[in-house]
Formats: sequence, C-alpha cells, structure tokens
Amino acid sequence: MKYDVLIIGAGPGGIFSAYQLVKNNKELKVAVFDSGHSLEKRKCPIDGDKIKSCIHCETCSIMQGFGGAGAFSDGKYNITNDFGGTLYEHIGRNKALELMNYVDKINLSHGGEGTKLYSTSGTAFKKKCMQNKLHLLDASVRHLGTDKNYVVLENLYAELKDSVDFFFDTKVEKIEVLGAEREKTSPEITEEEKINTTGYRVFFSGSAEKTLGETFADGEKCIISVGRSGSKWMESVCGDLKLQTLSNRVDIGVRVELPAAIFDDITDELYEGKIVYRTNLYEDKVRTFCMNPHGIVVSENTNGIVTVNGHSFEDENKKTENTNFALLVAKHFTAPFKDSNGYGESIARLSNMLGGGVIVQRLGDLERGRRTNQKRIDESFVRPTLKATPGDLSLVLPKRILDSIIEMLHALDTVAPGTANEDTLIYGVEVKFYNMEVVLDENLETDYKNLFCIGDGSGVTHSLSHASASGVYVADLISGKS
Ligand SMILES: Cc1cc2nc3c(=O)[nH]c(=O)nc-3n(C[C@H](O)[C@H](O)[C@H](O)COP(=O)(O)OP(=O)(O)OC[C@H]3O[C@@H](n4cnc5c(N)ncnc54)[C@H](O)[C@@H]3O)c2cc1C
Repeated sequence: MKYDVLIIGAGPGGIFSAYQLVKNNKELKVAVFDSGHSLEKRKCPIDGDKIKSCIHCETCSIMQGFGGAGAFSDGKYNITNDFGGTLYEHIGRNKALELMNYVDKINLSHGGEGTKLYSTSGTAFKKKCMQNKLHLLDASVRHLGTDKNYVVLENLYAELKDSVDFFFDTKVEKIEVLGAEREKTSPEITEEEKINTTGYRVFFSGSAEKTLGETFADGEKCIISVGRSGSKWMESVCGDLKLQTLSNRVDIGVRVELPAAIFDDITDELYEGKIVYRTNLYEDKVRTFCMNPHGIVVSENTNGIVTVNGHSFEDENKKTENTNFALLVAKHFTAPFKDSNGYGESIARLSNMLGGGVIVQRLGDLERGRRTNQKRIDESFVRPTLKATPGDLSLVLPKRILDSIIEMLHALDTVAPGTANEDTLIYGVEVKFYNMEVVLDENLETDYKNLFCIGDGSGVTHSLSHASASGVYVADLISGKS
C-alpha cells in the first residue's frame, strides 16, 4: 500500500499532524499506525477491586493508543515557551506560541468550549513567591480536564476517521529508507546535503496485517511521533538509520497530596502554579509539576515500572477534598555516565521492590526517619486518594534529592501555610523520563529528506501543547503552507 504520508503514533503529535494534513489537502493519502488500542477500547484493567496493581499488559492503555499518553490526562495545555519542551529552539518563539494557540482553538471547537484559560503573569501570587525565594513561571494554561479532554479526542477521531487510515494494535517494527541516494555511515552530521530518498517503508506487526494483507506499507514522507512509550524503539531507529542523538536528563521526585484548602488561593486564581525553588543546601533546583486541584493521585506504568502521577476533573461530582502536585529535581549527568533514564528507572524499581508499586509516607514520619504504617495513615487528617503501600521513602530516594524536596516543602509553606504539615502525604516515586533528543533541523527533519521526528519521541517536546504544535508545524511544512 502506498501512502503520501505515514505517521507512526496516534498521540497528540500524530493526531495533529493528521488533522492538519487533511485540513490542508483532502486528497492526501495518510496512514496512522499505533501499537495501542482505539480510544473506546483503551481501558486499564486496574479496578481497585479484583485487580489492584499493574498486571503489565502487552500494550499499556494508559500510555498507548489513540490520544497517546495524554488521553486520560488532566488535559492541561500550557501555552508557553517557559516549559513543556524546547520546540522554540527549532521553530522560533513566536511560531511556537502561534501554533500552541492554534491547537487551543481546535480543542475548543472540538468539545473544549467553556473550559477556563488561566494566566500566571502579573498576579499577586507571583510577587508573594518572589518575596519568598520562589519563582513562578509565566504561562497561559487551558485546563480541559480529564473528562473534556476525552470528548475532544472522540470528536477529533470522528472527524478524521473517513479521511485517514488508522491502524490500531499495530506496532511499527522497523523503518526502511527507500532509494537513498547515498549511505549514511556515521551518526555525525557532515557538511554534505541531506540524503534524498524515494520514500519510506514501515514494517509492522498486528491488526494492519489483516486489513492491508501485507506486513509493510510505503509512504513518500514519514512522521515519527512515538512519544515516551516509544523511546526505546526510537533509540533502535536512530541506531539503524545512524541518526545523531544527544543524551538527556531525568527528573526524580515525589507527588505531594494535601487538603485542597491549603492551595486554594493559588489554584483558584491560577489553576496550576509552576514554581521553581533553588535550595540553600545544595543550590539544586526543585520545581512543582502537574498540579491537580481537588484531584486524585494515580499510579502509572512505563515499560513495566510503576510510578506515581495525578489527575483532576472538570466534573464537580468527581472532585475530591485534596490537591496534589509533583516536586521534581532535575538530574543531568556528565561523562562517562550516559543512561539518565536507566538511573531514574533503577530508583523507581527500588520503590516497586519495597512497596510492590507506589509508596506513601506522611511528611512527619519522613522527617522523623520512621516508616509510615497503615495505622498512621488511618489516623492522618489527609485521606489518601490512591491506595499505595505505606512505607519509607528515605530507603528509596537519594539523600540529596530527598533533602531538596523537604526544603522546598518548607519554602512552599511560606506562601501556602500548611504545606509542610505532618499529615501531608508524600507518594514516591515520580520520575519524569525524557527521551534522548534526536538531532533535527529547523523543520524537525532528520538527516533524511522527508523523514520527520516530532512530539515527545523526538526529545524536543514534553507536553501536550508542544507535541501537538510540532505536529501542526510539520504538516504545514509538508503541505507547503508554512
Ligand atoms: C498520566 C499523564 C498525564 C499527563 N498530563 C499532562 C498534562 O496535563 N499536560 C501536558 O502538557 N502533558 C501531560 N502529559 C504528557 C503528555 O501526555 C505528553 O507530553 C504527550 O502525550 C506527548 O504526545 P506525543 O504525541 O509526542 O506522544 P504520546 O502521547 O506518547 O503518543 C505516542 C503514541 O505512539 C505510539 N507508539 C509508540 N511506539 C510505537 C510503534 N513502534 N509503533 C506504533 N505506535 C507506536 C504509542 O502507542 C502512543 O499512542 C501527561 C502524561 C501522562 C502519562
């Protein structure tokens, strides 16, 4: 089967590429392959009753399938160049913001209308932070909420399904370059021009074999958008095609859960405050991440490793009495160590080994150096929204990271009194893995002409808005519209 454009991955990057391609040209033949299920079939088997923890499904319904890793997320689209990726380094700050705003418009017209856009700049809270050694980052935040985010995805699929060939439960195993004018012998970028090709062949396994009667499909152009779940596969593609990559960082930390009232002043006004703090002890930076007012703490499985995350809902009936957010410390490694994700995985594995999954500890117990047990959780004034194993996070997290997190909690206590209360719950571990970065040009194109790499899989983006914007950008480029 011959397509004009092959897209690998149906997360926000892949969806927005497909959306913009057919919007620009209805005649274009576009195929999208995803190893996960279609949206309505995505269901994590953990029901908290018969299945209490991850059973390591072949494809993870939380991370894979139509909608990608963000499908059941809180749907917070941060319209900013301050965090969420470095797309602006490739396409420029104004273009990046323009495309993030464009994505916002599409989301609003596909079910997200009526949702609130929060802004942090010029607020009284920003000043209060500054006066207390805390730095509040500027952003506009569209909060779709888990429920509306899902509706937007349903509507986008309904609109695209007749113009785009979607193949779910279909893993792309390999990409072959067709008719390359010369061989790429090393990942190093040379002075030579890009390598012209006649197209790309993707070999797959799964349900597309039945529909197409083949194990491969050809395309003139190819967009790789495999996200975080595809990071290991992306490394193999870079190895096969000799694409240059840069090693990246890993963020390690915990998720904090406390009564929503403690953070109400911040969350009512800003919804989410991205706050950065430099510790006195080590001068390390700690930042808040993914704040979920009146939300729930959830566990998440990445390649068999269970970590913690958070969700919140627009629907009043689903709101809880708690707010949760992550506190993360970024670790950058220097030579000879290269495997930053491996380091993060080992720490997460350690918590899985001790707790069978996510561990929860009261801050008071953590500071006293004692394990939290079920009795102390039951007596706590903060009711946990995730059933995690009471334990001792000091046996899991490196001292430097733990010290920095505790120091930040006390710094936050100055702007949101109560944050460092004894009953504040600390869940671990939260790890934010970053894909290694694929070296790309200003078109998000690899060394091969018409082979693009976008979204979180490229290492350039780490968020819904940046990943979606990168999809629109490449689609416009392919359509000759940018
Ligand atoms: C629980 C959770 C909550 C989040 N909340 C937010 C939030 O509120 N705001 C925010 O900005 N970001 C959030 N994120 C991050 C956000 O979801 C990602 O940044 C975003 O989804 C990246 O989009 P993407 O298209 O690049 O990749 P992904 O969404 O990861 O999609 C990649 C797709 O590629 C498929 N794939 C991988 N390998 C292959 C292969 N070999 N063959 C075929 N298909 C393949 C996968 O199945 C997947 O569906 C959250 C993430 C999680 C897990």
